[in-house]
Order: sequence, then structure tokens, then C-alpha cells
Amino acid sequence: MQRLQSEGINTPADVLLTSDAGRLAAAQKVGILQAVKSAALDENIPATYRDPDGYWYGLSMRARPIIYAKARVKPEQLATYEALADPQWQGKLCLRSSDSVYNQSLVAGMIAHHGEAKTEAWAKGLVANLARPPKGGDRDQIKAVAAGECEVTLANTYYLGGMVNSSDATDKQAAAQVAVFWPDAKTTGVHVNVSGAGVTAHARQRDNAVKLLEFLASDKAQRGYAEVNHEYPVNPAIPPSATLKAWGEFKADTLNVAKLGELNAAAVKLMDRAGWK
Ligand code: FE
Repeated sequence: MQRLQSEGINTPADVLLTSDAGRLAAAQKVGILQAVKSAALDENIPATYRDPDGYWYGLSMRARPIIYAKARVKPEQLATYEALADPQWQGKLCLRSSDSVYNQSLVAGMIAHHGEAKTEAWAKGLVANLARPPKGGDRDQIKAVAAGECEVTLANTYYLGGMVNSSDATDKQAAAQVAVFWPDAKTTGVHVNVSGAGVTAHARQRDNAVKLLEFLASDKAQRGYAEVNHEYPVNPAIPPSATLKAWGEFKADTLNVAKLGELNAAAVKLMDRAGWK
């Protein structure tokens, strides 16, 4: 993003590809993307997974469910993101730091649904339940659950999908110790996010840039997102990989992911107030 800003009109980049609606919205905000209209994009990408004004388009969807230790937690003990703040999870929760845009977007979604006051109380509850100070990436949280450092965590689905199919025996073994729980099934649904792309503000090959986005939203490329990267295709016509299918269907949050970007700054401040390191 910094590079696109400093290169300005001289940029050789026609497309910005990145993960998380929070980041895509930030790119739009600093003026490095341009609006695009395309019937093919509108047709293949549900409205909840793209910017309403066409500045960016989600190309793959990922969920951030609860991941739990199969041997020590029963799925009946789990219900919602909200309930992870209950005292029953004291010393049993691992979380990635508040620097992670994935957690910022999760908190932004909570603010959208429940307001700041409730979300702040929830975030404080999560912090009080931590088994260790936040550290590492999503894979490290899953490994910590597998190793018994904690019993529950939150991680993006493709990380676990990658571990399940990993050639690394340690990753594979860790993945076998944990299971996915789809929270908030009776209420707002599982927090979901996208990786996506937008055409740069100063793209020299605008038409080709749009064609690339259209290709990435097409059946062929959507199958690639499913099979190679274990992300959920945004195009509902394309089924997810066998690994993801094995975790079952879930109700996804229908909040437009653009909201996660709008509320990012509020989420970051809230996490800081809650003491989420
Ligand atoms: Fe990631």
C-alpha cells in the first residue's frame, strides 16, 4: 500500500491483491484503488463479499471459527464467540495478537452486531481467559491447542485446511488433535472474511486488470482457490475442497465485509482499551 501511494501515477501495478476486507477497505480509503463495474463480477461474487461501489472484490472466502482440543473439549460446551468470554474458559483460551487484521475484523464484526459497549466487555472477558499472552500466527494458535497449552482458539479455516493436508508430519499430527466448531449458528453466524483484489487508481492496463479479476472470479480460478488453498470459493456455484466439506456446512455472517473495514479503527482502539496485546 505504501509503495502504491509513493509511486502514484508512475506505478507499474494494475491490480492490488491482498487478504482481508479490512486491508482492502484501507487501500480504498487512501485512494490507491479505482471503482470498476463488471456484470461478470457482480454475477459471480455475492454482494456481501464485494465493495458496494466496486473498489474491490472478494475472490475467496475464509471463516474464523472456534478450533478446540478434541480430547479435552466437548462441542456441547461451545456455542458462540460471546461465550468464550465466560469464566469457564479461564486460562484455556489462546489468541493471536490485536495486531492481526483477522482479529481486528472479527472485533469489527462484533461491533457491527452488538455495539461498542457490549463488544468491549466481551473483549475484556477474552483477555481475562487467556492461557498465555497473545503471540504467533493462526497456525501457532492451532498448534498450541494441540499441544495442550490451551483448549480453544480462533483461526482461519485455510490454515487448518493446509495443516490437515500438510507434508509436514508435525503439522498433520497437530491438525488431527483439533476440531472445528461453527459458532453463533442460531444468531449472527460465523465470522467470515475475504481475500480479494481491486484495480489500482493509476492502472495503465485497466481493461486487462478487469479481465484478470473476472478470470479470478470465474469457475476455473474459483476451483483453484478451493482445491489449492482451501479457501471457500466466493462463487456459490463452486463447491469447497473435500477437507472443508468434511467440517460440515455452517451459517456465515451476512454482514457486508466492507463494514469490517469501516469499523477497523474503532476495533483497534477497543482492543487496546480491553488490554488485548
Ligand atoms: Fe492468512
